[in-house]
Amino acid sequence: MFSMCASTAAAKDAAAAFQVFPVARSVAQVEAQCADLLGDVARRERRVAAGADSKVGVLAGMDGITQAVDEQLAPIAFQAHVHPNTAVRDAAEACTLRFQDFASRLYQNAKIHARLEALAPLDPIDRQMREDLLAAFEDAGVALPAPRRATARRLSNEMAELSQAFERQVREDDTLVAFTEPELNGVPAAVWREAPRDPQGRVLLGLDYPVYGPVMETAHDPAARERMWRAFHARGGQLNLDRLAALASKRWAYAQLFGLESYAEFQVRRRMARNVATVQAFLDEVKAVVQARERIDLADLRSAKASELQQPLAGTPLKRWDIGYYIERVKRERFALDQERFRRHFPPQASVDFVFALAGRLFGVGFEPLEQALWHPDARAYGVFEQSGGQRLATLYLDLYPRENKYGHAAVWSLQGSSTRTGQRPAAALVTNFDRRGLTLDELETLLHEFGHALHTALSTTRYAGQAGTSVELDFVEAPSQMLEEWVYDARVLALFQDVCAACEPVPADLLARARQSRSFGKGLRFARQHLYASYDLALHAADVAEPMALWARMEAATPLSHEAGTTFPANFSHLAGGYGAGYYAYLWSLATARDLYTAFDADPLDAATGRRYRDTVLAHGGQFEPTILVTRFLGRAPNNNAFFEWLAH
Ligand SMILES: [Zn+2]
Repeated sequence: MFSMCASTAAAKDAAAAFQVFPVARSVAQVEAQCADLLGDVARRERRVAAGADSKVGVLAGMDGITQAVDEQLAPIAFQAHVHPNTAVRDAAEACTLRFQDFASRLYQNAKIHARLEALAPLDPIDRQMREDLLAAFEDAGVALPAPRRATARRLSNEMAELSQAFERQVREDDTLVAFTEPELNGVPAAVWREAPRDPQGRVLLGLDYPVYGPVMETAHDPAARERMWRAFHARGGQLNLDRLAALASKRWAYAQLFGLESYAEFQVRRRMARNVATVQAFLDEVKAVVQARERIDLADLRSAKASELQQPLAGTPLKRWDIGYYIERVKRERFALDQERFRRHFPPQASVDFVFALAGRLFGVGFEPLEQALWHPDARAYGVFEQSGGQRLATLYLDLYPRENKYGHAAVWSLQGSSTRTGQRPAAALVTNFDRRGLTLDELETLLHEFGHALHTALSTTRYAGQAGTSVELDFVEAPSQMLEEWVYDARVLALFQDVCAACEPVPADLLARARQSRSFGKGLRFARQHLYASYDLALHAADVAEPMALWARMEAATPLSHEAGTTFPANFSHLAGGYGAGYYAYLWSLATARDLYTAFDADPLDAATGRRYRDTVLAHGGQFEPTILVTRFLGRAPNNNAFFEWLAH
């Protein structure tokens, strides 16, 4: 409730139950809920502006709006990505745009802004909350002269609409690529046997990860790989290139309203890195480390190709659609490692139980299945509880397998943030696209990564929902997840599988040892690519606005493998259109923090005392303190990039 007093908060706390997911049943229902929400938040805004929340103050009043959004809008916005019904997804998207318009106005409310400015915070948490809210109001244009304020609002709404249309285009791509059976030579039959056929009897394959990945990594026929690769990189098409160009110029115009030279400056000034020059210096250092390694990797792959095709090295060019295939081939030859080998060890449900057991060991929390009808029969609900005492902590939803029109990557939606003030419990939804036969080690790593985001949400105990869990600076948000990726390479950790799945055959020690060795192979290529993505994103959002496709073609052409004419990668680079605009560098930046955090677990990744300290000092606080403060408290020293650069070089 909006101005909940202490006694009702306590009552709610005692009765706190797990969330019952509000499934969208029809378009009419989504529209009615949306209208209710918009009416509710508008009433709340008026009360906050009028100071009618004198008992709890403006911070709690604003957080009441966040909690209303958590409760009513977050499930709708999430279902725009996973709901099986197209009309419901469309209605959900329309609702998020209507809310965007409300939010653009809310954060320009001069009366609320004045109340925040006048507020003397009582403690560091309130001080951070006040600062965050002031930043949000200022970034929405509250202090601009009226005509520019109106422009800011219009631009915000137009940018939200463009991002949404861009992502929808990629998500709803229904391209099918036709292959004869001989063309799929090398690809595990389980990947294509059940696929539909065209009138000529050719197998029709879509571009989902469980299909695209195996074709790129195992199809012997280079022409088949090329066809698949080109189709994958054509998603989004000219429509999305146009949308990206429009987004980049609107973002630039938005930054100009504030007298800043670029959208990158506008965004980075609120993040851990603080300014673009610092990001640039960091990226330069990354490049210096990986450049030589990238050349060595490419030479390795090229000689693997020449030897497979039994032709001279000199006449063997390496193409982009060769990379995945020859990386896997070299890994098989050099390390006798085949990712497919892991599927029998990691059945999907056992993999879920394994990450739950790991969270139990490290953080003292348990998970119980909840009986709930969700948005699709594949989705599952779990309650997260404290192992000692059984206190209910959070609700977690899992939606693990691919289906038509579902979000195509792996991600977590934070649906509800914790608030100790009102007793609101966290809820998060974890979405992946795994193969039902089981996971590879790479996929187990992905599961643990996403689970890291879900835990960040679930184990947060912040005062305000607006600062809960993953509501942290974008260049910190990946660190807790990237840190956990390490765990799947440790035999002591994988042994937990036998606790949760007696029938699961243990991963042989030598297989895991080879996986660890082979993990380093291709690091040069992988991080050179990450560096290119981050640099492209910064260049696209720099002071001079470039045409996205021309800029990409130029930057990619400067890499050793050059640019393939006719491919339009920026048209499906959803990160850029979505929340990671001028923020892709965050993956590398966060990884440096993740490697630093991991130094505390290096000796024993199952140490419960370290896990507990991490939970209490980092996860519990979400964004109510700056990341540097949290990391310093956990490590007992100032953070640094030493562990990251050492890891990158080896
Ligand atoms: Zn992530």
